[in-house]
Amino acid sequence: MNKSRPSGSHFLDSVNRMVDRAVTASGLEADIAEAIKVGTDVLQVNFPVKIRGRLELFSGWRAVHSTHRLPVKGGIRYAPNVDQHEIEALAALMTYKCAIVNVPFGGSKGGLKLDPCQYDRDELQIITRRFARELATKGYLSPALNVPAPDVGTGQREMAWIADTYKHLYPDDINHVACVTGKPVEHGGIRGRTEATGRGVQYALREYFRHPSEVKRAGLVGGLEGKRIIVQGLGNVGYHAAAFLAKEDGAKITVIIEQDGALINEQGLDVDQVYRYKNEQGGVKGYPDAQYHSDGAKLLEHEADILIPAALEEVIRSDNAARIRAPLIIEAANGPITYEADQILQDKGCIIIPDAYANAGGVIVSFFEWVRNLSHIRFGRLERRFDESRGKHIIDAIESASGSTVPSWIANQLNRGADEFDLVRSGLDDSMRMALQEIIEIRNDHEKVEDLRTAAYVIALNKLSRSYLDIGVY
Ligand code: NAD
Repeated sequence: MNKSRPSGSHFLDSVNRMVDRAVTASGLEADIAEAIKVGTDVLQVNFPVKIRGRLELFSGWRAVHSTHRLPVKGGIRYAPNVDQHEIEALAALMTYKCAIVNVPFGGSKGGLKLDPCQYDRDELQIITRRFARELATKGYLSPALNVPAPDVGTGQREMAWIADTYKHLYPDDINHVACVTGKPVEHGGIRGRTEATGRGVQYALREYFRHPSEVKRAGLVGGLEGKRIIVQGLGNVGYHAAAFLAKEDGAKITVIIEQDGALINEQGLDVDQVYRYKNEQGGVKGYPDAQYHSDGAKLLEHEADILIPAALEEVIRSDNAARIRAPLIIEAANGPITYEADQILQDKGCIIIPDAYANAGGVIVSFFEWVRNLSHIRFGRLERRFDESRGKHIIDAIESASGSTVPSWIANQLNRGADEFDLVRSGLDDSMRMALQEIIEIRNDHEKVEDLRTAAYVIALNKLSRSYLDIGVY
């Protein structure tokens, strides 16, 4: 882990100052802005678990930032340096994120202070189930009120344990499976959730490159093909974003930064191979076909077209921001750029696609999973065969009217009904496209809004203040 990482209170302050910039630009009244910014509540739990014959004490948090929509939503992270302020900052980001991409949830986040690498599977299961029980019995885990998801250090496995714990506590809750998202598909998860955040980063970049004037603002030309990309953090988000951009858009992943150092290959790294190597060896050091640098963070400053920080918060700070050379940064991680660094980068003309939008793919698909769980039916189950046969009729009609055969590649497209995976990808693509269009429009139309982050927060503040006023909070 990054030893020079500042504490969570700096992160929270950074988020609030970025929001303040949007408050000023939007002209929102100060008292309404304050009511939106301040969090609702934070639960701290401390519980002992017997590990290898002795009692170990664990501390965890679940912060609720805004309940203007229920349930509140946000991941649970397992990390040794997690603290309450960090969780509060992440909960606030969730509120803004959901508003920006039109997902009807309030914001929340959870964290457990532990290093998951220090425990085996069975120990992690006992700890996770105990944490889930603490959250559920105190009203911080429920399909109607508070729905966690995976984040750093957690994944499908932990979500399945949490869902099962909740089910055993409340077997008469018919919607028990919707108490958490990011579950394995065979336990009520949805196809496409695991890669959703990385996929969303890809869709965000694709949409950005559909706007030539935006591309020009970043000092770039053309499309994603051949663009040199630096990725920091080859975990869930970073791996999927990098792999999709390389395989489907022809981008070149020239630098991969991990905890133990960085790899460079100007011809483009094979993302799958590096990912496999990292998982087998526990790091990237020793990977063939690349130059290795032990000071990974320094490589954030390497020359490239696009920089994707996808590891953790506050990696671009006032001490390295001026040396960042990529003209376009997309924040796949939450809070990778501090407030001070954001100012420095903007003054340099760097374009930042902000976290509160860029990594929303996970919560968008989590929303689909939650809806699927509440409806108790897989998306596409009712209409897929119907659509298939309608496609076949269309082909028959065209062929009999024209007397010629429809080319097989068109027929294959018309002949199939959408399955759940197709629908999830389509819904994610649509949500990411629409949100970026709205952000760009606000930046273009408002004289006082100069950057995409401020535009995104202005959108969130407008929606949140409207919702607060509509329900008569004041
Ligand atoms: P992860 O644990 O799967 O991956 C993180 C990766 O970063 C790991 O490979 C880790 O080795 C690496 N890493 C850690 N410290 C590093 C350092 N100092 N330098 C370089 N690499 C380092 O986590 P994730 O789920 O991919 O989340 C990454 C970021 O994305 C976090 O900020 C998280 O909050 C955010 N995010 C995740 C999701 C999601 O759906 N998983 C959704 C939205 C936002």
